[in-house]
Amino acid sequence: MPDVYNWHLGRPMTYAYEEAHPQKQFVAIFNINRCIGCQTCTGACKATWTFSPGQEHMWWNNVETKPYGGYPQHWDIKTLKLLDEAHQAAGVKAEWDTSQKRDDAPYGVYNGLTISEAPGLNEQALGYLPADNEWRAPNFYEDTSTRYDGDKLGIHTQGASLPEHQTWFFYLQRICNHCTYPACAAACPRQAIYKRPEDGIVLIDQSRCRGYRKCVEQCPYKKSMYRSTTMTSEKCVGCYPRVEGTDPISDGVPMETRCMAVCPGKIRLNGLVDIAADGSWAEMRQHPLYYMIKVEQVALPLYPQFGTEPNIYYIPPRWAPRAYLHQMFGPGVDQAIARYTAPSRELLAVMQLFRTTQKMIFRYEIEEGPLVLETEVNGQPWQMYNDTVIGFDGAGREAVRLTVVEPLHERPAERLNSI
Ligand code: SF4
Ligand code: SF4
Ligand code: SF4
Repeated sequence: MPDVYNWHLGRPMTYAYEEAHPQKQFVAIFNINRCIGCQTCTGACKATWTFSPGQEHMWWNNVETKPYGGYPQHWDIKTLKLLDEAHQAAGVKAEWDTSQKRDDAPYGVYNGLTISEAPGLNEQALGYLPADNEWRAPNFYEDTSTRYDGDKLGIHTQGASLPEHQTWFFYLQRICNHCTYPACAAACPRQAIYKRPEDGIVLIDQSRCRGYRKCVEQCPYKKSMYRSTTMTSEKCVGCYPRVEGTDPISDGVPMETRCMAVCPGKIRLNGLVDIAADGSWAEMRQHPLYYMIKVEQVALPLYPQFGTEPNIYYIPPRWAPRAYLHQMFGPGVDQAIARYTAPSRELLAVMQLFRTTQKMIFRYEIEEGPLVLETEVNGQPWQMYNDTVIGFDGAGREAVRLTVVEPLHERPAERLNSI
């Protein structure tokens, strides 16, 4: 198999096809800390794309409760176990060398195996086909925490304080990652899966698909799903009409997807970044996604060790055990949480942009405002400024303008009781 460069791993890796990249890439950040588990995103996707016969089990967007939940059940534990067995067979340790951080290796170098590098593979990647009953409940173990150690009055014996809560859970929001090196595309014997050159969205050509389910088997995130009524596989389409700006309400500019635009928790920010010919991200210093992922490194890929270079990034939850988060998001977790907990002046302003407009934001500017708070975070001095952040859409027009401190509007006395 050819070698391709995977910047999440900081090294080349083997993949089924020669390296090729889109001009732009569909990217999103999900801030786990803010998710309220309301499933509005899940319902929005279902109502838009998967409401027909044969799609009953299709939740292209799902939100699962970690550590026990998963859709299909235990999808990540099962893939991690396969990868672990591959490491044991090869006598290799799945370790990160964080001393080798570079611009093209921001998390250091992963010296373990990816799903396409396991020894003795007679497939394109390690994988398994979930049994039918593993798809039966999209929100199994909802709101189920780890063990609660209470005394005889039921009062927690350890208490809850950062950096790690003793009893914990968090919501993990999941859609297709529109991976740079999609395992689903590598797996397909019909070459029915392709990555669009204009935005990097990964689609299944329904006219070519014969329902062999190799994509279901080899996508490590289990985001390709089989439909028995058409005998083909289907997956998240990245709401491409909205991304193209052809949706009737888009005003001709790229829009965020349905699951992103509806989020009441304001945890999601979705956009397009420019990709250079070598696959690196072209510098877009004033792009909110580029800034948060590449400059601040506050958002991280999900299971980067799988090796597909996923394009959905997560701000990790502050309270979950670090070892669990390191396994899930790689070695950048401690720095990401530290920067999120005490954000820089610029990061605090940029984070206000989450879910303020349905239009994708391609550039931001900040107008400086006054100092409004001086305090300490983690024993260090921290200041808050009431800066104004302005977001610009795909046509370069101002799409949103807002301040760090939410303005207070007082209802006039004569209308105190009116709505
Ligand atoms: S998440 Fe899975 S289905 Fe989506 S592009 Fe990656 S490998 Fe394919
Ligand atoms: S991007 Fe669109 S198709 Fe994909 S999960 Fe979200 S709403 Fe569904
Ligand atoms: S809509 Fe937003 S807050 Fe609600 S579950 Fe989805 S990601 Fe979380």
